[in-house]
Amino acid sequence: MSAIPENVQARPLTFRRFKDGDSKPLAWQAEIFDADHSHKCPTYVQSTPPCQGSCPSGEDIRGYLNIVRGIEKPPAGMPWQEYAWRRLTEANPLPSVMGRVCPAPCESGCNRNEVEDFVGINSVEHFLGEWAIEHKLSFPKPEHPSGKTVAVIGGGPAGLSAAYQLARKGHTVTIYDERPELGGMMRYGIPGFRTPRAVLDAEIQRILDLGVTARMNCRIGTDITLDQLRAEHDAVFFTTGVCASSASAWSWSAGATPRSTSPPWPGGSATSSTRTRATGPRW
Ligand SMILES: Cc1cc2nc3c(=O)[nH]c(=O)nc-3n(C[C@H](O)[C@H](O)[C@H](O)COP(=O)(O)OP(=O)(O)OC[C@H]3O[C@@H](n4cnc5c(N)ncnc54)[C@H](O)[C@@H]3O)c2cc1C
Ligand code: SF4
Repeated sequence: MSAIPENVQARPLTFRRFKDGDSKPLAWQAEIFDADHSHKCPTYVQSTPPCQGSCPSGEDIRGYLNIVRGIEKPPAGMPWQEYAWRRLTEANPLPSVMGRVCPAPCESGCNRNEVEDFVGINSVEHFLGEWAIEHKLSFPKPEHPSGKTVAVIGGGPAGLSAAYQLARKGHTVTIYDERPELGGMMRYGIPGFRTPRAVLDAEIQRILDLGVTARMNCRIGTDITLDQLRAEHDAVFFTTGVCASSASAWSWSAGATPRSTSPPWPGGSATSSTRTRATGPRW
């Protein structure tokens, strides 16, 4: 049964080194400059780098850029590209896809914007993802199975990432998706010229190779009930996205009011259609 035992404390899963929100500089003016005493020494404050604080995946961007720059050396016998990719994929198992399509809020947060221009973080991410596919890198399998099973409803990027993180912790994961293939809107929304399907397939297969199984053409609520899933698994994780499960919330009618804003990614143009969403657009 998917009940949460009472003695288990829910802890947020995060890859950030410090607390969320602490990438903003503290106001030291009063403590250091306006104070009526002479302790005006520089103060080193540890906080999340702004790039990592702005990345929805919380990737250790400064960590893998330090590897790419040769500051942190890989272990003997491991190429720096692989070492950097392993650091990156601690948080995000889809670097080749994200390097292509993510609108890169990490770059808006980059401190170099104050100097001349941001570091091209998602180009590095893209490169490392490609290198890993070319060199057929795989994820290490967990050493100790937990004996727990988890159902993930929805095989889009959120569900795939959840499956990846859960499988690495030793849980047995089954992804349920109503569509014939995994990938969610990465496959059924984003066109192939932005995300080549061979790249998408390679990054998905690497997650499945961890032992994750996928049950396709299976809609929860129609083909299987939620109660059935709850009975069969120790936990159920919902990653149904914003489009598929709520098709009735979308209107494609000729009379619908066209949206006036474009999605935030380069080349995005939802404005050419008459798409509206009853609850308001997310992008
Ligand atoms: C046309 C288009 C272009 C886009 N372009 C970009 C881009 O360039 N860059 C970018 O960053 N983002 C882009 N996005 C947004 C991006 O694709 C989404 O933010 C992302 O896919 C959301 O991931 P998700 O896993 O939360 O949901 P989804 O990708 O929507 O995945 C949800 C999955 O759940 C399944 N599901 C839903 N309900 C059920 C159910 N009851 N039973 C079983 N399965 C179910 C669906 O079949 C689907 O596979 C675009 C989206 C669209 C539609
Ligand atoms: S481009 Fe990559 S590193 Fe930057 S915000 Fe997106 S996923 Fe994170």
